[in-house]
Amino acid sequence: MQKYKIAIVGSGIIGMTLALQLSAINHINVTLFGKKPKYSEFKTTAILTTSFEIYERLLDLNKSHPQISKLKKFKIIDELKTKKKIIDFDATEINLDCFAYNIRDNFLADRLYKEIKNNDSIIFKNEFIEGLEDNLSKTILNTSDETAEFDLVIGADGRNSIIRELAEINYSKKIYKESILVTEVNHSIPNNNTSFEIHRNGSLLTSVPTTNKKSAIVMIDATEKINNIDTDNLNKIIHDGLSTYLGNTIVNDKYSIFPSETINAEKLYRNRVMLVGESAHVIPPIGAQGLNLGLRDIITFYNLLLDSNEKDPGTKTILSTFNNMRWLDIYKRYKSVNLLYQSMMNNNIGYSAIRNIGFLTLKKSRRVRNILLTEGLSFNK
Ligand SMILES: Cc1cc2nc3c(=O)[nH]c(=O)nc-3n(C[C@H](O)[C@H](O)[C@H](O)COP(=O)(O)OP(=O)(O)OC[C@H]3O[C@@H](n4cnc5c(N)ncnc54)[C@H](O)[C@@H]3O)c2cc1C
Repeated sequence: MQKYKIAIVGSGIIGMTLALQLSAINHINVTLFGKKPKYSEFKTTAILTTSFEIYERLLDLNKSHPQISKLKKFKIIDELKTKKKIIDFDATEINLDCFAYNIRDNFLADRLYKEIKNNDSIIFKNEFIEGLEDNLSKTILNTSDETAEFDLVIGADGRNSIIRELAEINYSKKIYKESILVTEVNHSIPNNNTSFEIHRNGSLLTSVPTTNKKSAIVMIDATEKINNIDTDNLNKIIHDGLSTYLGNTIVNDKYSIFPSETINAEKLYRNRVMLVGESAHVIPPIGAQGLNLGLRDIITFYNLLLDSNEKDPGTKTILSTFNNMRWLDIYKRYKSVNLLYQSMMNNNIGYSAIRNIGFLTLKKSRRVRNILLTEGLSFNK
């Protein structure tokens, strides 16, 4: 049987997951380019209950693993006005055990890397891609000392994607005036698998459970404030925001900072080049959507290849079908997360009105809550 050659550029979480998933298809040869990734030690990702199945299947990862924490409830606390407004969400409202599984990026990346190394069907090249030439019949990739030809090249090389640039795929990018700080906190009151989200003027403070008395912290605030923060300051902000719910808090004195930005590729392919994960779409970390969108890119492409009569994975028919199947999901998340983000970070009349109406409706209407939760979890995608 003829084997078709796919190159995946970027061995981050999405690139490695995609390589493992595609290696299950008989007529495909997978080559993965990149170095073993190292994520921030504090960064965790909430993988939605609707997406987690991929890791049970590919990594035999057990939901009860001690490194994985269930996110069963979340509490949104709006402190923008003098009177606090609180909304509670519980996974049992929609008959689920939990909304998501929170997992450290480094733990997941290590498990993926080990599996890649043990997989004879994946050629792992510990190299970075520097050049690309593509047309409708083939794509050539260059590293510093090698040139190779592929039927399809998939860019999984993250938000600063060189593949997106070299393939000349247009995209829009917006850099927000805020930055994102991640760290972790020990607390005296157990979190009971609950995530807390505190909205204040121009800032957002979120805790996500990692163990019962430890939570990951994601804080979004003005870049100048984040860049000049010191440990005492950070301790105070986190104590003021979370001690009502989590008791005494001791914050780790180390943290990582990320830019707050958003990217949306106009199209997910050109010639025989395709984009997945953050090379195609970046959204602010609200509502656990970023990686989950990338996981849905992977599942969609895998099922498309399995169901198609075409064996060549890089044809225009395959790539345009992939684009058509994915754009609405990506567009909806991109628009809704950015609107939500702006309504939290801006206090002008328009955004305040959106926020207030949203809060009121969510508090009053069970139906709207159910729609929001099932949409957020991407059921039926
Ligand atoms: C603070 C924060 C919290 C988040 N929380 C969540 C959450 O709870 N839930 C959720 O779903 N999402 C979340 N996200 C989003 C999620 O982290 C990202 O979507 C995800 O990590 C992106 O993975 P990726 O593999 O696409 O990109 P990356 O992790 O950036 O991987 C890209 C890889 O490509 C490699 N690379 C780059 N250039 C080349 C080259 N030329 N050749 C070879 N390799 C190359 C890089 O070295 C890197 O290893 C969060 C993001 C942030 C910032």
